[in-house]
Amino acid sequence: MDLCDEATSARRAATSEIAAAKTLDELEAARVKYLGRKGLLTLLLRNLGKVGPEERKEAGRLLNEVKQEILSLVAGREDSLKQAAYSSSLASESLDVTLPGRRGAIGRVHPTLAVMDELVDIFVGMGFTPVEGPEIETEYNNFDALNFPAGHPSRDEHDSFYVGEGYVLRTHTSPAQIRVMQAQQPPVRVVVPGRCHRRDTPDASHVVSFHQIEGLFVDYDVSMADLKGTLAAFAREFFGPETRVRFRPHYFPFTEPSAELDISCLVCGGKGCRVCKNSGWLEVLGCGMVHPNVFDHVGYDRASLTGFAFGMGVDRVAMLRYGINDMRLLYDNDLRFLDQF
Ligand SMILES: [Zn+2]
Repeated sequence: MDLCDEATSARRAATSEIAAAKTLDELEAARVKYLGRKGLLTLLLRNLGKVGPEERKEAGRLLNEVKQEILSLVAGREDSLKQAAYSSSLASESLDVTLPGRRGAIGRVHPTLAVMDELVDIFVGMGFTPVEGPEIETEYNNFDALNFPAGHPSRDEHDSFYVGEGYVLRTHTSPAQIRVMQAQQPPVRVVVPGRCHRRDTPDASHVVSFHQIEGLFVDYDVSMADLKGTLAAFAREFFGPETRVRFRPHYFPFTEPSAELDISCLVCGGKGCRVCKNSGWLEVLGCGMVHPNVFDHVGYDRASLTGFAFGMGVDRVAMLRYGINDMRLLYDNDLRFLDQF
């Protein structure tokens, strides 16, 4: 068999083996088989020296042609195998960006504070200015200036948190009234939202730290009619236009006369139900005309000035609004509860 026949036969075999190689290892084995140091084509080229000049010229040209062809086929196959490997790794390691992401938990305003904001807005709409006072108050502002007599039970250590001589965690927002009146001359028209503290045993309607909103209006011609009109407008705005109000006589040290405001029951509309204990009314807040003794404490003229004040428990109002039957739920920080609002 002459070299030319062998070269042609090697070309045919190499072409089909290279095309059939399924991996880079198989391709490399095929390359070594023909072009390696002991490869078929290498041996044929080595045999060129053993043939006559005529055949050597012809076979030499053919063998080199076949060698170049095999090199180029190997390179081409290597490219396509690498490309296939790359594509399959892309497919197996791909990241599906269409999967929905994990949503982070976003906080929101606590129902008590949301109600407090709403209450402030209503009174701001009626001309009141929001102000704040400190939670650690002087005993004087919290009690004496508000006309609490020396022996009043709420001054007892069992009812209030004393923090050093003469200081107390404020038991109501009312001491802010004193601060405002000491700082400015009438007219005064403010609302005071804030946190208060009492030594109460927690139950369905009491917690140790709670929220109040306080209102104060002082001028030269303020009457009980202004008080009633303001609070009736507030009740209709907050609880709904059908809401009816009634004022019951009451007692507070810092107002005279004093009253409690009831609204028609939000559940039964006044017919009587379990929520209103069949009375048809729900107690909402305390109010009254500022006691002249309070004016004396802040240097206001008791003879020419009058004013009204009111205060309500924000937690209690939030409970009425949302139909919550236990105040402690508002302070448990249980998201299953809070997520409802
Ligand atoms: Zn009712």
